[in-house]
Amino acid sequence: MAGVGGRASPGLKRWLSSQGLAPRVCVVGSGPAGFYTAQHILKHHDLARVDIYEKLPVPFGLVRFGVAPDHPEVKNVINTFTHTARSDRCAYYGNVAVGRDVTVGELRQAYHAVVLSYGAEDNRILGIPGENLSGVYSARAFVGWYNGLPENRDLKPDLSCETALILGHGNVALDVARILLSPVDLLRKTDITDSSLAALACSKVKRVWLVGRRGPLQVAFTIKELREMINLPGTRPILDPADFTGLGNAVKDAPRPRKRLTELMIKTALEKPGEKMVAAAPREWGLRFQRSPQEVLATADGMRARGIRMALTRLQGLGDSAKAVPTGEVEELECGLVLSSIGYRSLPLDPAVPFDSQHGVIPNSSGRVEGVPGLYCSGWVKRGPTGVIITTMNDSFDTAQSVLEDLQAGVLDVSASRDGFGTVGSILRSRGVRPVSFSDWEKIDAAEVTRGKAAGKPREKIVDPEEMLQLIGH
Ligand code: FAD
Ligand code: NAP
Repeated sequence: MAGVGGRASPGLKRWLSSQGLAPRVCVVGSGPAGFYTAQHILKHHDLARVDIYEKLPVPFGLVRFGVAPDHPEVKNVINTFTHTARSDRCAYYGNVAVGRDVTVGELRQAYHAVVLSYGAEDNRILGIPGENLSGVYSARAFVGWYNGLPENRDLKPDLSCETALILGHGNVALDVARILLSPVDLLRKTDITDSSLAALACSKVKRVWLVGRRGPLQVAFTIKELREMINLPGTRPILDPADFTGLGNAVKDAPRPRKRLTELMIKTALEKPGEKMVAAAPREWGLRFQRSPQEVLATADGMRARGIRMALTRLQGLGDSAKAVPTGEVEELECGLVLSSIGYRSLPLDPAVPFDSQHGVIPNSSGRVEGVPGLYCSGWVKRGPTGVIITTMNDSFDTAQSVLEDLQAGVLDVSASRDGFGTVGSILRSRGVRPVSFSDWEKIDAAEVTRGKAAGKPREKIVDPEEMLQLIGH
């Protein structure tokens, strides 16, 4: 991807580099937003130096801990990020949690500009009774579990029931459904963690309902991911043709992606599976629409989820902006496992940084944090928790462009030099924090690849941060 996003004009680039000033920029977070912001600044300013701070010892954010293990091609962006990290004007400091180990105020003293790209580490909650029963998990935690995110490594989801229900009609919901229903032999050669593979191999789940509060024209997942579900070996889709009545006509003039997606759902709903197909498909999944979760129902002993009470809804308005309004009718759906996939959520980092709690974003204008000159944001914490990696890339280039323009306009005063990690390193040392360098990460990476080789996997992820640190002699 290097070479993409060349939006700084040759004039701006020449001007910036002719000033002989070496801006020191700090980026917080090493996911796509952090790396693409760094890439753009380094590419368009020949003297800028960028330091990336990451909470975990290991880099790449949701590319490592979110993207599904059976989508290895998506992870190729890591090659571009590695190229950026190896630049002699870029440094990576893992194992440093900004807000805990060093404050944003301290970073602002040490750098000319600070870019917050720390993503969305939490999830939206349903806010309904029974949400905390055993057997109810956020999709975020479930994804973190199968992808080896340290905080979720001990999740041990209970997969002893036959029916799982996923709330939400986004791509994360489809990822989770696919992982639950995939034949384990398909997952065996991926970088899914050994322990989750073992748990999935014993899973009793054979039916997954994906339930959305709105209709087929409002689903948030995309066609490639739906097609993958439809073609998943050993499973068959259950779509009710009645849910799609009249929709073929309704989407005639819709934007092409929505039209094709709807047509695929209609075609799938109308296909009658033969007996042979049913026999060859021991597992099944289906889409349910216009049902909004009202309560997770408990087993008689009050301990576990046994189902969900749904409020049936009707749609008010048309298209993407249609609202789900309860009709007053309810329905109970039985299931032993509930996965809430209704979106991620960013958290405030530091009292010194403005935060819009309602929308879960840092208020900003083109990435410039409102009211705090020299402070910027990019990625999910800037925009909210939606958008694929390319969306995040474009948005991060925009923020980087704002930094470059502020350098040119003199909004960022680089006449006094800043010591960057020279200053921050002393602060961290005084607090007993030992950062992990990019070459340290490359040692962890090599160890993971070696461990995976024996099992024919691209890597076996190390899930315990202590073990990572030991491996690099910390
Ligand atoms: P993140 O990737 O979350 O990166 C944020 C980084 O900041 C993390 O490394 C985090 O550890 C770090 N951090 C957090 N707090 C601190 C702190 N206090 N101090 C220092 N560092 C901190 N897009 C696709 O194109 N294809 C896919 O297949 C795909 N699959 C996805 C699957 C899932 C489950 C999810 C949730 C998203 C997926 N996406 C996919 C979307 C894509 O992952 C996002 O667009 C992208 O990761 C957002 O980038 P980000 O840098 O803003 O956030
Ligand atoms: P998303 O696309 O925003 O989907 C969230 C879903 O949750 C929507 O169906 C939404 O319905 C529903 N929802 C929200 N609040 C709800 C509530 N209170 N009750 C019931 N339902 C509720 O989010 P996501 O699935 O977490 O994905 C995040 C981003 O990552 C997306 O941009 C996605 O495309 C991307 N991603 C991409 C891939 C891929 O490319 N393969 C894989 C995973 C993720 P409403 O529409 O009614 O609000």
